[in-house]
Amino acid sequence: MSICLCCGPALLGRRGLLAAAVAAAALPSGVRAAPVSAGPAEGTLLDDLVAANRILYDQGVVDGFGHVSVRHDKDPNRYLLARSMAPVLVTRDDIMEYDLDSVPVDPRGRTSYLERFIHGELYKVRPDVIAIVHSHSPAVIPFADTKVALRPMNHMSSFLGTGAPVFDIRDAGGPATDMLIRNPSLGHALAEAMGDHPVMLMRGHGSVAAAQSLHHVVYRAVYTEVNARMEAEALRLGPVTFLSPEEAAAASKTVDTLVERPWAMWKQHAMGKS
Ligand SMILES: [Zn+2]
Repeated sequence: MSICLCCGPALLGRRGLLAAAVAAAALPSGVRAAPVSAGPAEGTLLDDLVAANRILYDQGVVDGFGHVSVRHDKDPNRYLLARSMAPVLVTRDDIMEYDLDSVPVDPRGRTSYLERFIHGELYKVRPDVIAIVHSHSPAVIPFADTKVALRPMNHMSSFLGTGAPVFDIRDAGGPATDMLIRNPSLGHALAEAMGDHPVMLMRGHGSVAAAQSLHHVVYRAVYTEVNARMEAEALRLGPVTFLSPEEAAAASKTVDTLVERPWAMWKQHAMGKS
């Protein structure tokens, strides 16, 4: 089913909100109604989400941990995310629907990722974001844990712009958290700290990438890791000349039009292994 990206989801979202209000009115005070489903997501979107999980593993962005989500195509107030499991093993049946408070619509005994609040809270404050990756990709973490900024080494990583900001969980959660974004308030703090950046690093943890589509966010997550490896290598050689902010802005526009090429290659490679 094709649907207008501007008004269709909003209309369906209002219908869902009305249904939720009716359901909540029938409950005792203080008992929250389960979120209402936006209905079945488009099959191609589910297939893309499965492929995104496997590509991210295949490209070394996620391992047994990390996750990728996408907004529901029929309601911008819902998102789709696998149940708590290793990304490379995700199938269509593992995809769950959440509201933006990260409450599952129909858990059926399935466990949710502890850090799903990264997704819900970021979708709340970033209407431009359609898909999100959270990972602990290893080459990125040195830049989260030091004062060395992750900046674009070449045009392929130009989306990094003037450099990825770093979220320090101590600013929101105090000095002794377990480092996980395990509740809505930490998720909200992270989303606020990210501002309108496409990528943010998380001290002592990993990173978040956001984009206008699943294909774009997978691209950004992969090339954030690639850029981190290149930058660490360049820093060993000597002073680095990064892309200027103007070069990064211009290159980013071009690269945004080219993400289908690597997506097709990554998908064939990753899905060929299943
Ligand atoms: Zn994490």
